[in-house]
Amino acid sequence: MCGIAGIYSHKSVANELYESVIHLQHRGQDAAGIMTYDDRMHKHKGLGLANEVFTEDNLQLLLGNIGISHNRYPTHGGFSHGEIQPVWTSVPYGIAIAHNGQITNYDELVEEVTKKEKRYLNTTSDSEVLLHILAKELDKNGIPNTSEEFFDHLCDAVSSIFKKVNGAYSVTALIIGKGLVVFRDPRGIRPLVRGERDNNGKKDYIFSSENTMFYSLGYTPKGNVLPGELIYVDNDGKLFSKRLVKEEFNPCIFEYVYFARPDAVLNDVGVYRSRLRMGQNLAYAWLKKYPDVIPDIVIPAPSTANTSALAFAHEIGVRYSEGLYKNPFVGRTFIMQGQNERKKSIKHKLVPQETEIRDKKVLIVDDSIVRGNTSREIVRMVRDFGAKEVYFVSACPPVKHPCYYGVDMPTSEELIAGNKKVDDIKKYLEVDVLLYQEIEDLVEAVTRIGDHHIDNPCMACLDGHYVVNGRQVHDLVMD
Ligand code: SF4
Repeated sequence: MCGIAGIYSHKSVANELYESVIHLQHRGQDAAGIMTYDDRMHKHKGLGLANEVFTEDNLQLLLGNIGISHNRYPTHGGFSHGEIQPVWTSVPYGIAIAHNGQITNYDELVEEVTKKEKRYLNTTSDSEVLLHILAKELDKNGIPNTSEEFFDHLCDAVSSIFKKVNGAYSVTALIIGKGLVVFRDPRGIRPLVRGERDNNGKKDYIFSSENTMFYSLGYTPKGNVLPGELIYVDNDGKLFSKRLVKEEFNPCIFEYVYFARPDAVLNDVGVYRSRLRMGQNLAYAWLKKYPDVIPDIVIPAPSTANTSALAFAHEIGVRYSEGLYKNPFVGRTFIMQGQNERKKSIKHKLVPQETEIRDKKVLIVDDSIVRGNTSREIVRMVRDFGAKEVYFVSACPPVKHPCYYGVDMPTSEELIAGNKKVDDIKKYLEVDVLLYQEIEDLVEAVTRIGDHHIDNPCMACLDGHYVVNGRQVHDLVMD
């Protein structure tokens, strides 16, 4: 999972892109980068949190009114400085891209880029391959003069990408002398929203993974970049857009479960409201299945589950309690690499509040159970602090399958529900009752309300139905 942004403004964009990486920090804490251009490219990137990477001094060197940014959480490629995005190439024009997602036919594309095109890849990042495919396609058919001609040229290039690149990819790109380019894969798996701002009678544009920075930067949300859509803002601020391909719209459901910030609105669905509805649906299921099991308190595994726990407690009529205090200065464990790091960090990050827990029947609400280690540690901590009984509910159904679209769920063996039945998971977690959300209740929670156009959210990690799975879209390119 990563966070991307692209801004076309009538004033300098460096500080606004910095604010964007701060507001998308939850989507990737491994590295951050910004590239801008005036008559040449300016870049700064580094490993670590955005406020460690950028300073007032290095931001001042990022000149220009057009730029892109990236927060990195690696799912493909290594952890070196070379993998940090945006990535760029100098031929043709000078192109830089920021990519959120994961490409599933990486090997085949590497073959094309290196063997057929004789281009050099400096990393194992799928984003670098995507950059070179775009560069190669833009290198065809001469040099367009007008913006209209260049947009036609872009339509051909991105249509070609939609035909040959499989997987999930939301992309912001800048092209020297041409402007800002944005596109989203035909299934719309990863989010990409758009906003506009009046700047003394002229229009500024922003495109980003989430709208979390719009309010502070003064942008008004203008919906989404549609699946299969290409948007181009030329150097003079003229916007061109075209939906090149129309496929089934399959946005990632896990964005709503865990990744996105609660104040985000993705694909016209509010994340906060969807999490309330997840808690509500889970409560209905609890009341149906365990009408006689009544906890004394409901506590969230902080902090993504807070919203669902609040709705759950309300629906079953039991007090909501912040029985686990979360140290806000420790990173999200799911994003950290390696089992030992994760195990060590749970106690470091969560502290049970004894007055809320001792001698009580405690119901813990978590957003999901992925590997199971965090949930087990939480249960043990709550028992250590004197809970009489412990019940555990998950707002997400069992996560059984790996994700190939940009989320770190690499093998079924690492996923507790990938190789254990619910009863065995209950024993492993050492809980008195374990209840998972049903898939249809999760889908209902995400799609119940709103003028959204989601056909079927991607739920491959839950139901094993991979929405791309190597399928080509040759026959679906629109006029
Ligand atoms: Fe999201 Fe799961 Fe689909 Fe991956 S497999 S895109 S995490 S819903």
